[in-house]
Amino acid sequence: MGTQNTPRELVEAFDTTLRDGMQVEGVSATVEDKLRIAEQLDFLGVHFIEGGWPGANPKDIEFFARAAKELNFRHSTLVAFGSTRRPKGKVDEDATLRNLLDANTSAVCIVAKSWDYHVTDALQTTLDEGVLMVSDSVDFLNTNGRRVMVDLEHFFDGYKNNPEFAMRVVEAAVMKGATHLVMCDTNGGSLPHEVAEIVTRVKAFVGNDATLGIHCHDDTGCAVANSMAAVVAGVRHVQGTLNGLGERTGNTNLTTVIPNLQLKMGFDCLPAENLQRLTAVSNHVAEVLNRPLNPQAPYVGASAFAHKAGLHVSAISRAKDAYEHVDPDLVGNGTRFVVSEMAGRATIEMKAKELGIEMGGQAVGQVIDDLKRLEHEGYHFEAADASLELLMRRAAGWQQDIFHVDSMRVVTEEDSNGVFTTEATVKVVVNGEAFVNTAHGNGPVNAIDAALRAALLPRYPELAKVHLVDYKVRILDGGSATGAVTRVLIDATNGDRSWTTIGVSANIIEASWQALEESLLYGLLHS
Ligand SMILES: [Zn+2]
Repeated sequence: MGTQNTPRELVEAFDTTLRDGMQVEGVSATVEDKLRIAEQLDFLGVHFIEGGWPGANPKDIEFFARAAKELNFRHSTLVAFGSTRRPKGKVDEDATLRNLLDANTSAVCIVAKSWDYHVTDALQTTLDEGVLMVSDSVDFLNTNGRRVMVDLEHFFDGYKNNPEFAMRVVEAAVMKGATHLVMCDTNGGSLPHEVAEIVTRVKAFVGNDATLGIHCHDDTGCAVANSMAAVVAGVRHVQGTLNGLGERTGNTNLTTVIPNLQLKMGFDCLPAENLQRLTAVSNHVAEVLNRPLNPQAPYVGASAFAHKAGLHVSAISRAKDAYEHVDPDLVGNGTRFVVSEMAGRATIEMKAKELGIEMGGQAVGQVIDDLKRLEHEGYHFEAADASLELLMRRAAGWQQDIFHVDSMRVVTEEDSNGVFTTEATVKVVVNGEAFVNTAHGNGPVNAIDAALRAALLPRYPELAKVHLVDYKVRILDGGSATGAVTRVLIDATNGDRSWTTIGVSANIIEASWQALEESLLYGLLHS
């Protein structure tokens, strides 16, 4: 065959989570958050980390100052982002370019207008001046010792409208020593066949004078596909964000593109041994930004390798590779068997094996009976992996001695000024000793969570790492209105793993309580 000796070609991964990723609605990261994310990106091993736009806001200036002092990258190069000089301005008097130098990074990335329409209408200047803005700025940064990457904004729209002008901008940047020319689909409207065609022409023009890059937005749902098409056409630098974060529909998802390039197309993107960190890093960043990961995300989602198998489960256990497109271990994910009331013995046995629970025939029968009864009452174990595990452990004879709740009381009052206060009291037994704690909260669930934690924390300090991520309430029998049965799902995490527990009751406090108690129990069991 001989192919195994062919050296693998490099495709650089350029992460822009800390700039473009911050444009997503509802996300706001502190400088501390950004530093933690940068550490994760370096741990993953991407080539470049775009830290932000120094000068655009004080947060980004602080980020670069602290990054220089506090971060010690092993793999990644930090990049400051900015733009070309102003129309008719001078490079050495330009505040944006000055801020870029002050960020003190070895590499910088500047956005340049490559769509004639933007030059004449947005900048209101001539096309010649548009080209000069690019060449002057690249030259200035290059002379000041920076490695210069150029983000060609609206490149595909620009090329379609006026290919001659788009290529003049490309040429100007290359002539002045830009190392990277990154074609951006800024409005996200391009399709893979168009990207392939245009990149092919640019590649023929630029040759090996600079590295070509791609930066896509997902407005047609094709950001990943467009990036792959660009690589096939000669691009060797892919920009994107972790988990596809970005404004509107998001940016190219690096957690999808990287394994595609590395596992399917034979390119090197991350150091080989680092790819298995992908799922953990993806979860970690979702956690820092308080932006729950889509369970159906390719490669890294909780459902990416989940089998709701029924009859096929024993076939899957015999030949996993017949049902999975890659080995989930390669990206740090794992095969998961989804269990519901429909589950047969084989599914329960596979699940027990997955969880490392010893389970005899009688216990398996017990789990099947429990599932049928509980799912009839409104439980939904497919969505609550942690509650399922606890149920299976109990069926297998587990008697937990982590903590027991003896009693719980919660009171909500409204005073004469219309102010509500909630107080919860719990009595908890740990190692035969009883503890009573009272706490306030902004609502009943918050108050009982606080009281339970206050009782447990001195005995189990590791509980400090466990926190609730999401609390979902669903009314199951809408017809009975306020008498309906309520299902509560609680998502929690300790930073390393996430889990979901469930509670069902006609009383919403009781349902919440069940889910909460199991959530903390599971957290302590696995700490
Ligand atoms: Zn962008």
